[in-house]
Amino acid sequence: MNTASRLINSFLNLIYPPHCASCGKSLKATDEAQACQACIAHIKRNPRPYCRRCGRSVQKAQALCPECLKMRPSFSSAYSACLYEDPLKELIHKFKYNNKRGLSKVFEKIMIDYIADNHEITDNVDIITFVPLHKKRELERTFNQSELLASAIGRVFGIPVKGCLEKRVQTKNQNELSRQERLANVKDAFAIKHGMENIVKDMDMLIIDDVMTTGATLNDSSRAIMRGGAKQVRCLTLARGN
Ligand SMILES: [Zn+2]
Ligand SMILES: [Zn+2]
Repeated sequence: MNTASRLINSFLNLIYPPHCASCGKSLKATDEAQACQACIAHIKRNPRPYCRRCGRSVQKAQALCPECLKMRPSFSSAYSACLYEDPLKELIHKFKYNNKRGLSKVFEKIMIDYIADNHEITDNVDIITFVPLHKKRELERTFNQSELLASAIGRVFGIPVKGCLEKRVQTKNQNELSRQERLANVKDAFAIKHGMENIVKDMDMLIIDDVMTTGATLNDSSRAIMRGGAKQVRCLTLARGN
C-alpha cells in the first residue's frame, strides 16, 4: 500500500471502524489486519511430523503419506504452515471472495514466521512464483491472493518474485468439486507464460499458493515449470486440507 492509499484507509477506518472478519469484534482504527488476535491465535498449525514430499501431517517422521507412495508428484517437496480448518478456512474464504484484502497481512506473517522456523523451504531458492488465476477470474477478483502472499515473502527473504505461470483453461473452483473431479479439473491447465521460458530454466523455484488439498493444482503447476527446464520446484501454501 502506498502512503496515499494508507492515509485514505486510516481515514475510512476512523469513520467505519474495522471488524474481525471471523468473529466480528471491533478492531483498532489503526489495525490493517482485519482479524483479531484471539481468532489469529486459534488458527491451527500443521502438526509435525510431515510427509517428506507433500507436507501432509503423518504419524511417523520421514514417512511418505499414502498419496505420495501411490504417485510421485512433480514438485520435490511441499510445505504448509497451517491446517485448512476454521477459523482460517473462513478467513481465507473472505480474503478471496469478499475482497478482505487486509487479511493478507495476517497470512503473510504466518507464512514468513513459518519459513523462519523451516529454512529448507527457501534455502537456495532462486525465484519465487505463484499459482496464477485465469485472466477472467483475476479481473473479477481484482487481485490474485497467491501473488500478494508471494510478493510479501519475496520482499522479506530477498528473493525475486516473478509471475512465470499462466492459467490457460478456466477451470471450475476447486472447492466446488469432489476429490476425483479436482484431480481431473486442473490437468494441464497451467503453462509457462510466453517469454518466461528463459527465466525458469535451470532455476530452483518455489511456488506459493493459499491452500493445498489434493495437491493437483500445485502438481500441475510444478509439472509445467519442470517441463520448462527448472532444476527443482518446491511449494509452500498457507493452509493444508486433506
Ligand atoms: Zn476475531
Ligand atoms: Zn505426501
